[in-house]
Amino acid sequence: MALTAEQVAARTEDLLTHHLGEPESEFWGAQFDLGLAWIHFPEGKGGLGLDPGFQDLVDERLVAAKAPQNLLLNMMGVGMAGPTLVAFGTDEQQQRLLRPTFTCEEIWCQMFSEPGAGSDVASLATSAVRDGDEWVLNGQKVWTSMAHVARWGLLLVRTDPDAPKHRGLTYFYIDMHAPGVEIRPLRQMTGEAEFNEIFFTDVRIPDRQRIGEVGDGWNVAIATLMNERVMLGRVGKLSGEEGGVVRHALRLWRARDAEARDPVLRDRLVRLYVESEVVRLTMLRAEQQRAGGTPGPEGSLGRLMVSEHQQRCFEFIVNLLGAEGMLISDYSMRRPEVIGEVALGPDDKVDLQKGFLSTRGGTIGGGTTEISRNILGERVLGLPREPDATRDLPWSQIPRN
Ligand SMILES: Cc1cc2nc3c(=O)[nH]c(=O)nc-3n(C[C@H](O)[C@H](O)[C@H](O)COP(=O)(O)OP(=O)(O)OC[C@H]3O[C@@H](n4cnc5c(N)ncnc54)[C@H](O)[C@@H]3O)c2cc1C
Repeated sequence: MALTAEQVAARTEDLLTHHLGEPESEFWGAQFDLGLAWIHFPEGKGGLGLDPGFQDLVDERLVAAKAPQNLLLNMMGVGMAGPTLVAFGTDEQQQRLLRPTFTCEEIWCQMFSEPGAGSDVASLATSAVRDGDEWVLNGQKVWTSMAHVARWGLLLVRTDPDAPKHRGLTYFYIDMHAPGVEIRPLRQMTGEAEFNEIFFTDVRIPDRQRIGEVGDGWNVAIATLMNERVMLGRVGKLSGEEGGVVRHALRLWRARDAEARDPVLRDRLVRLYVESEVVRLTMLRAEQQRAGGTPGPEGSLGRLMVSEHQQRCFEFIVNLLGAEGMLISDYSMRRPEVIGEVALGPDDKVDLQKGFLSTRGGTIGGGTTEISRNILGERVLGLPREPDATRDLPWSQIPRN
């Protein structure tokens, strides 16, 4: 029989009582074993088969107890690979991969974007050609966050160039240490290289690492992208009291002398605070409307609101900092192990000036603001689909530059 909210709360208390203070991966392992990792997943696979709305109960309690959080450490694993594997993976793949993903012993990256395919990712050109029980992979991906620390990569590639662009794609996961995979850092304006470009030369992928049917990669990718948007929306909620990045603005404001707290700035701060609450409540509502495991387009709403809100908060913060807002602490090239930490991490890791720079990319990564608005227009408001003259043409006949 399905657990009640009280029973889930009791299980969460058990987790905290017996495992808080253990090394992080052991804590997350215990969370997985108790079914509190992804609560809507099946029992034995990190979940309890419950409505995904129950996850908020668990997350809020864990945040309040300052339990370790794994989402920023393995965003593509916990937020995207896990849900994709549960929806489309084989039982063997799920048994092998879900637990080490949640414990962060195995980090993931996501390889969809290419130099010639971003918003229109279905036009991608990296190819895999079947050779017996294996596939031979050639091509290039770009903007791949955290590939330098990843053990596994989610990969969308073209396996049938003569089918229309959405229908000739297949989805795999690959070993990022396999021969023929070359990862090169791409430096961002914070000085850090969180993302990378990846070159594949005759990389061999076993067919058992295919996720979903041959030619059905687009459907699998949609599930990954919907989960990505939900996850990007969730990130803000994991920062504890006074929700998300607005807390840095509040902290700076409170530290100001009374005469420096002018009413115009106060008005902007109050607006940001109200906005952060609207974002939080909208996310909660979207979560509760999500009946099954696979999220719908409402994830795009949360992701859109969170990314724009974070930018407005950091704009306010650098204004409050005045001249200091123009100084950067250090511009040396680093390859971070945790994504977005300078903006979204725990207070001792946040760097306000770098946070301002880093959140600029928030309205691009995971689908741009314009693409999110298109999705909301088409799938929520029911507006006509955007025209696409190449949709039904064989991909090999679409002009490319
Ligand atoms: C911080 C960050 C992390 C990222 N991490 C990853 C990752 O881990 N893995 C991965 O695969 N990718 C990643 N990306 C890439 C990201 O998904 C793409 O940058 C994004 O999808 C946009 O593609 P593009 O850069 O090719 O821009 P383009 O698609 O060329 O778009 C250029 C401009 O045109 C607009 N535009 C394009 N098409 C339309 C349209 N139909 N209607 C209206 N406007 C349109 C866009 O909104 C944008 O303003 C990341 C990007 C960033 C910034």
